[in-house]
Amino acid sequence: MKLLEERIIKDGVLKEGGVLKVDSFLNHQMDIELINEIGKEFLRLFKHKNITKILTVEASGIGIACITAQYFGVPVVFAKKAQSKNLDGEIYTTEVHSFTHNKDYTIRVSKKFITSEDRVLVIDDFLANGKALIGLMEILKQAGATLAGCGICIEKGFQNGGDYIRGMGIDLQSLAIVDLNEKGELIFR
Ligand code: 5GP
Repeated sequence: MKLLEERIIKDGVLKEGGVLKVDSFLNHQMDIELINEIGKEFLRLFKHKNITKILTVEASGIGIACITAQYFGVPVVFAKKAQSKNLDGEIYTTEVHSFTHNKDYTIRVSKKFITSEDRVLVIDDFLANGKALIGLMEILKQAGATLAGCGICIEKGFQNGGDYIRGMGIDLQSLAIVDLNEKGELIFR
């Protein structure tokens, strides 16, 4: 997606360890005009898939998922990282390894909100090693729901999550795939 690539070039900052900071427009301060275009693009890519729900993980996926959901006209469910008294009843849980925090955490979704009837689009801001997506896919498996596809804003092609997820035959669509050239500078695939 040209608009997103241009914005990454203009405002993205590549940090040590292959971490790309896009916090001025995507996952801390959020440019809603840009995210509206991202939502429309996800609709274009997945509108034929009869999506009934969008699933993401807190925190940075939520805003993007909500704006996208307005174009699909479906609810958003986000997996929670914190245990809470509000999360009552039966829940699906699984463990996820965080790339940015280098630690494991548990994600939780109430069984009320994802069922075997659902055709789910998974949305996230980044794809690196694929652990967040694999955790969300595990939740869908526990629910017996159908994974209709995965929509990612920025895939880091120099990490192996994209190859792994596509290798499973999943419809993974990334709006920008960034690679590193031999000088360690960002380029787009
Ligand atoms: P994965 O689970 O695919 O290894 O990493 C994806 C998750 O880690 C995303 O939910 C995202 O929040 C975070 N993440 C991974 N790489 C980056 C990065 O380069 N920049 C930022 N801002 N977040 C990242």
